[in-house]
Amino acid sequence: APGRTLLVLGHGSHLNADSARAVHAHARTLQGAGFDEVLTGFWKEEPSLRQVLRTARYREVTVLPAFISEGYFTEEVIPRELGLRHQGRVPDGGVTETVAGRTVHYLRPYGIHAAMTGVLLDRAREVCPTWTPERTALVVLGHGTRRNPRSKEAIEAAARRAGAAGLFAHAAALYLDEPPHATDWREHTGGLDVIMVPFFASEGWHTLDTMPAELGLPGPVSHLDGRAVSYARPVGTHPAVGSVLTRLVQEAPARPAPVDADHAAAWAALDTAAEGGLDVGELRVTPQPDGTFALHHAADAGTPGLTRVPLDDLAAWTGRDNQGEHRPIRTRRGLPRGWQARVPREHLRAALHAVYPAVTEEAHAWDAGKLLVTPWAETAARQSGRYRPVRRAPPETVQAARERLCAGCLRTPLWAGEPLAATFLSGGPGLPCAEACTLLVSDVAHLLEAPHP
Ligand code: SF4
Repeated sequence: APGRTLLVLGHGSHLNADSARAVHAHARTLQGAGFDEVLTGFWKEEPSLRQVLRTARYREVTVLPAFISEGYFTEEVIPRELGLRHQGRVPDGGVTETVAGRTVHYLRPYGIHAAMTGVLLDRAREVCPTWTPERTALVVLGHGTRRNPRSKEAIEAAARRAGAAGLFAHAAALYLDEPPHATDWREHTGGLDVIMVPFFASEGWHTLDTMPAELGLPGPVSHLDGRAVSYARPVGTHPAVGSVLTRLVQEAPARPAPVDADHAAAWAALDTAAEGGLDVGELRVTPQPDGTFALHHAADAGTPGLTRVPLDDLAAWTGRDNQGEHRPIRTRRGLPRGWQARVPREHLRAALHAVYPAVTEEAHAWDAGKLLVTPWAETAARQSGRYRPVRRAPPETVQAARERLCAGCLRTPLWAGEPLAATFLSGGPGLPCAEACTLLVSDVAHLLEAPHP
């Protein structure tokens, strides 16, 4: 039947599994927003921005950047990586383009929505249930423009709207990276009581453990020099953000469309291949007599007492290795041991995507001669921001990064010219890698800054 896919996109992290948590929570909330499928994608982890569109079941895709402000990521990186022609500010109502046969509606980030003012005030109330308007200042904290030249606009608009609500004697926007500095909050709040609300999408390192200390506060609620100073949790993780997101995606102009033919063919190929049992990377998929499929680490075959992991938890469970380390590129070796999942046939697609995002669509495209391979020179040429220097990386630096990263990865780097005879869908163990991942790009950038011995 026709349907619509919703993609919720976030930044993610090469280092920290918690960074993506808010995006996953938003995606769970949006399951009830009327779409037939809700997927997530990330800049710095898998499913990556380059892969994720291919994993959409339907030819009609609404893309919501789960970002708190407009700027570098929402206007340059995400459109570029998704394959949109649009660059720059996204108009109200979003941008609609056709990408590889899919109609893509690309929306503005949720953080600029006027309804975020209510979320900001809710966060203030949580940390300070009542306050005296004439004696209290609101501080809206932002990063500043070092990472995102336009990020101040969203913070200043939020402070302006909150100030206009008439609930505070004064509302100020302060920044971590530039003036007016958050650490100078005393100068910007007179002798008033203060409520600080971080206008951030996720906790990141700005948690209640670290940020109050950075700002010279003994804790989330402090009494300093005769005034009360309260530090709230970030706006982006507030449950009320869910209704802002729901409004945004429901306003988008998407109409149900047919299932993408290549997508359907890829999953039909998986269905057939899985009938007789299948090894995908370190994962074993085994059909059960009751018609379900069991998934576990291939080395755990026959091991009793494996922990049963529900489908909804599978991506998070397999996103860390047995030492608890984050696995931003899921096909790098280190799939954790000791668990199993049981899924009905209709959920096999989602289960495999949770463990190894996009491998089925990419393997099927390779087998069908339809996987576009992007050579390193092309990947390097489109890098910007902090990764721009990789454009001038000599071949030996790229080779060094490959030896460090790709050697521990189950994918074959086709982008570097390595051969792949058959994929796991066509009789071989192979998983194709069509272009260098952001972990590799990042490693090349680090090698250029400080060559490893
Ligand atoms: Fe794996 Fe290397 Fe491809 Fe990254 S670039 S996904 S490490 S093969």
